Amino acid sequence: MSEHTTNSPVPPDRRTLRPGDIEQLQILRNVSREAVFGILEHCEVIDLAPGTVLLSRGQRNRRMFLVIEGELTVCIDDVGEENVAVIDVGQTVGELSVIDDSPASADVCATTAARLIAVDESTFWRLVKVSHEFAANMLFLLASRLRENNQIIREGLSRRRILEKEATVDALTGLRNRRWLDENLTRLALRHQFSKKPFSVVMVDVDHFKNFNDQFGHSAGDQVLAAVGTLLARRLRPTDLVSRYGGEEFCIMLPETPLDGACIAAERIRRNIEDMPPLSHDGQSLPRVTASFGVACMDGDETGTDVLRRADEALYRAKTAGRNRVSV
Ligand code: GH3
Ligand code: MG
Ligand code: MG
Repeated sequence: MSEHTTNSPVPPDRRTLRPGDIEQLQILRNVSREAVFGILEHCEVIDLAPGTVLLSRGQRNRRMFLVIEGELTVCIDDVGEENVAVIDVGQTVGELSVIDDSPASADVCATTAARLIAVDESTFWRLVKVSHEFAANMLFLLASRLRENNQIIREGLSRRRILEKEATVDALTGLRNRRWLDENLTRLALRHQFSKKPFSVVMVDVDHFKNFNDQFGHSAGDQVLAAVGTLLARRLRPTDLVSRYGGEEFCIMLPETPLDGACIAAERIRRNIEDMPPLSHDGQSLPRVTASFGVACMDGDETGTDVLRRADEALYRAKTAGRNRVSV
């Protein structure tokens, strides 16, 4: 669409600028109206019908627009649906392109019928030259736009952090999830390889949990898994990293811990689970559960995946040896 599309011919009197038209312009704060009216009265005054696109992102723009009637919105997102800012009477738009001679950085559209003064490049720089106050107002305006943008960036970053956290946290137990484990296991294993410090992994699997669910229901099962998750998180050192591997399986990474230390920790947790006070669900007391543990410590040039696989094999041995035990 053209920059100044109109639905109907503009009456001649609307094209003529009157001193009252520039009263509300913030960019003219403290500026002698007499000094600049003579310059502005030669500028084109344009009428926009509601819905008219004034500026399109990426397109060349060589004019600053001063809004003297109506309202426009600025959209910077790709879909063009999220209105970022409203420009109303007294405000300006388009000045960035004039200052840095670059294409428009946003879409700007009239939301109501609007009347604007179009200040071309040479007039803009003339205003800067003749009025120190105009230039100071322009700096003030740019500073406040920068601050607004910083605020938008801050909000975006904090929203992203929340989303990232949600994407790596298991909703049932509050522990980190498998995705987090996949993203961190390799990195942690490599770090230990470089520092030549021991790194152990413990796989935990609740025993006969299918039977438990069949007998007491899935929701009772969920309650038990949440309690086991809480216990794991509380009974380990703050440096140990617990995640829900999936289903009724958990994975514990023990930085700077050799095999015997990892076995001691696993045995302590095994007993804690066995001794967990019975939970009650829907008025019925649930039986205690037990869990089996497989422990492995990273060897030589093993990868994180290798050590996890060995911990899983050790877990299998704990299961076949009778469950509710720790195996290496
Ligand atoms: P084993 O002692 O050999 O580990 O036997 P098991 O029954 O625990 O193992 P199996 O792999 O046969 O079954 C695991 C069961 O865990 C299947 C499913 O009913 C249950 N389960 C997995 N995820 C969840 C969950 O999120 N909530 C609940 N309530 N149960 C789950
Ligand atoms: Mg399992
Ligand atoms: Mg199981």
